[in-house]
Order: sequence, then structure tokens, then C-alpha cells
Amino acid sequence: MLKAVLFDFDETLGWRRKYAYRTYMDLITSLTPDLDPLHREAIVQDCMIWDMRGYYSKRFILENLQKKYGLNVPDKDEFYVWWNDTCAKNMVLYDGAEEIVKELRGRYKLGIVTNGSARGQYGKIDASGLAGYFDYRICSNDAESRKPDKGIFLNACEHLGVTPDEVLFIGDTFTSDILGALELGMKAVWFNPTGHPCDYDVPQIKDLRELKNYLD
Ligand SMILES: [Mg+2]
Repeated sequence: MLKAVLFDFDETLGWRRKYAYRTYMDLITSLTPDLDPLHREAIVQDCMIWDMRGYYSKRFILENLQKKYGLNVPDKDEFYVWWNDTCAKNMVLYDGAEEIVKELRGRYKLGIVTNGSARGQYGKIDASGLAGYFDYRICSNDAESRKPDKGIFLNACEHLGVTPDEVLFIGDTFTSDILGALELGMKAVWFNPTGHPCDYDVPQIKDLRELKNYLD
């Protein structure tokens, strides 16, 4: 019997592409105050390619900005702090995110299991306005385990008082969210709004509200 629903955060509840874009725009605007909008947009679009949905290090992006555009980029440690705080400030949720968690609240225990630092991830969750709907949240730095490793999933199960077979996990990254959850015996739903091809038979949704179709 399904007792808990666990969510990934970035690019699942939070529309990361949108808040990352806004944050790169803030960065490039501050570095190129006199540049025209067309060329500024081109630099931001390059940042979005280099960003690889957050999988490439920010150091790589800063180095590229320096090499390709000769920009006087900030120190990387200083930049990490600014990046996390500014992503939180620029938070945008996926359509239906609040609607679905509101609907599930009270019917299931709800958790967020996210890879990243406490400052970055909890800052974004707090800024999202969704924190109050969740019974538990855990980031990989606090769990000392990253998805798809089982430690972080088990940490959430333990805190919510459920076993993996009583959990449904929803996330956008196949390798960390879907693989990790399925290996532990959880149910999994892949949030795949852009329709990445996939031969493996796993439930997929393009809108978070479709999650209702996979609940008991
Ligand atoms: Mg994600």
C-alpha cells in the first residue's frame, strides 16, 4: 500500500531551466552592463548550454565565460554562494506543482529528496512556498549520500516511518531518481516534460498533475 510520495526538487517541482536562466541573466547583466540585449542574450544562451541542466560545475561555466568572452568573472567560492541565493530569489515552480502537493497532503506522507548543498537546496525549497506541505526534506550533503545511492532514499524512508515498497518517487533525472528508486523497490514515475526517448518501461508524465493516475 502506498504511504508516501517523495519528490526530487530541481526540474521536478522547481522549474530549474527558468530560474537558472534568470540567474545567468542576472550574472551576465552585472558583468556586461553596457552590452546590447542581443549579444547579452547570446552569452546567457551559451551559459544554458554549458550548464547542462546543472550537471556541469560552475567553475567550468566561469572558465568558459572568461575564455570565450574575456569576462572578469567572480571567484568561484563567492560565486557558489551568490548562485544559490540568487536561484532561490528567482524561484519558479512547474505548472501544477503546488496543486499536486496540496492534493496529496494529508493522503500520503510527503518528502523531498534532492542532491546538493543545504544552503542551495533548502534555500530554494523555502523560496518555493511549498515547504509547509512536506513532512521531510533531505539534501545529499546532509544525508552524506547522493541519489542514486540508497543511503539518501533510506534516510527519507526512516524519517517518514515507511518502507521503500510503500513509496512512490517522482523525479526528472533517470540515472539518479528513477534508477535509484527502482533499485530499492520503490514505485517510480519519471517526470519527462520534454519527452526524452526511453525504451525502458517506466511510467512517464509530462505534467505533474498526471501523477494522480499513479496513486492508490
Ligand atoms: Mg531534478
